[in-house]
Amino acid sequence: MAALAENGIRVESFPKVAKQGDVCLVRTSGPASFKSVYGEFNGERFPMAFNNEIGIYEGLIGIDMITLPRTYEIEVIATDDENRVYSAALSLRVEKVDFGIQALSLPPSMVDLDAKTLERVNQEARRLEALFQTSRGERLWENVFILPVEGEVSTGFGLNRIINGQQRSQHTGVDLQAEKGTSVLASNHGVVVLVDELFFSGKSVILDHGWGLYSMYFHLSEALVREGNRVRTGAILGRVGSTGRSTAPHLHWGIRINGARVDPFALLKIGTLSTLTNNLRQKD
Ligand SMILES: [Zn+2]
Repeated sequence: MAALAENGIRVESFPKVAKQGDVCLVRTSGPASFKSVYGEFNGERFPMAFNNEIGIYEGLIGIDMITLPRTYEIEVIATDDENRVYSAALSLRVEKVDFGIQALSLPPSMVDLDAKTLERVNQEARRLEALFQTSRGERLWENVFILPVEGEVSTGFGLNRIINGQQRSQHTGVDLQAEKGTSVLASNHGVVVLVDELFFSGKSVILDHGWGLYSMYFHLSEALVREGNRVRTGAILGRVGSTGRSTAPHLHWGIRINGARVDPFALLKIGTLSTLTNNLRQKD
């Protein structure tokens, strides 16, 4: 692999130092004549697309909430029309986050599960994991992601939960407080890949935005879309409710990027930086 100094490519990340649960925008400058550009992070490949106007390739990396805090390498590999290969690397430090602790009380029937319910919960978890490991080659999202409901954050991302005195899992999304019946909007363009009633999540909608990016909307009172529907940013997916394991109406909003559980607010921040829109030429 040869990195040519003159036609050399450069790689940058935003933010420059990441935290557990962060989303990083990776940018590489280079000529439009590259026939392929992609990145690699932590042993996984991620796609990059070209913005014609500013001559920059962009891609997204999700840093899972339990990523080991250390320095990682981001590598970008480009191939030109004459099959010459260019590469550039960048170190990315991932810092540990103290997500905090939340203690809550729930009815024992929602916590101490019988064998049959446990089997259901495990099956649902496996189904979602399998879904999040699938990556659509096509990118459906455009630059800015939006908040699905306007509401105060009642439970933040990553909180370590102690339920009825026992340590349980970390909170993998954010809970947005809203009145029952409030419209829940699609964060970005996507395809509805799941509409179902799940034990913990209640009535749930999941959108596939392409490139391994998924958004999920849980505890709905009703879902107003069907699996297979294509939706645009801001489309009404359903209504806020309190179905599943929930004590008051709210929306649990979660984001996955190539399987990584990331803070939805980190994605909102990146959206304002990214220049990618679907009008731009995408090379692959
Ligand atoms: Zn939640």
